[in-house]
Amino acid sequence: MRLIIMAPPGGGKGTQASELCDRYEIPQVETGKILRKAVKEQSELGRRAEKYMNSGELVPDQVMVEIIRSRLRKPDCENGFVLDGFPRTIPQAEALEELFEEEDIELDAVIYLNVPEQIIYQRLGRRRVCPECGSTYHLDANPPEVESICDNCGSDIVQRDDDRKDAIKKRLQEYRNKTKPLLEFYKSRGLLNEIDGDQSIDEVTSAIKEALD
Ligand code: ADP
Ligand code: AMP
Repeated sequence: MRLIIMAPPGGGKGTQASELCDRYEIPQVETGKILRKAVKEQSELGRRAEKYMNSGELVPDQVMVEIIRSRLRKPDCENGFVLDGFPRTIPQAEALEELFEEEDIELDAVIYLNVPEQIIYQRLGRRRVCPECGSTYHLDANPPEVESICDNCGSDIVQRDDDRKDAIKKRLQEYRNKTKPLLEFYKSRGLLNEIDGDQSIDEVTSAIKEALD
């Protein structure tokens, strides 16, 4: 199963991608997570990406395409993957098509979670993440069992640096201008499956399951 999951920032990509990856036993390729790890380690990639991420801008296409090329060539992606956060621009989607052609593989579907912008502010303002294992929580919709502690690894959960109001505004602008055109791109290829993302987490999971079945 080779899938792309698309949504506005905070639309539930990571939450649903993680479910899909458990179900199909395939890796979740999450570009935001790869970049945050690089920033934490202050690698060359991390130092380069940090300023874009903190302000809510997209990291340049060339950098992102290189990351994806090397990640998708790893052996764990041989039986499939869920792309979460990539592609985010038309040039990224075109580069991905080229890579698939080179590797002689095909995309099965693009899942698009449609979530209105006013909901996004509520989701991101109340999102908490584990800085150690990357698990995601929501203080109301999906809280950890013990307050402020990650269920998975026991670390203290925190708010992401780019979940501030000013960065959210910029991220939504980037989404509208650069990512939304991908909906037409994938629709014209007959791959787009639109799901109402403004439902409970379990309802969205069921709707995705139904669309894929
Ligand atoms: P993305 O990966 O698209 O940025 P996340 O999966 O991190 O989005 O979800 C953003 C926030 O919204 C998280 O706090 C998550 O727990 C919460 N969330 C995800 N899906 C839903 C939903 N269907 N209803 C309510 N909250 C949700
Ligand atoms: P995310 O965790 O998906 O919300 O991504 C966090 C941030 O990482 C984004 O706001 C961008 O700055 C950067 N990023 C992640 N994926 C991409 C991508 N495919 N293209 C450009 N920037 C990206």
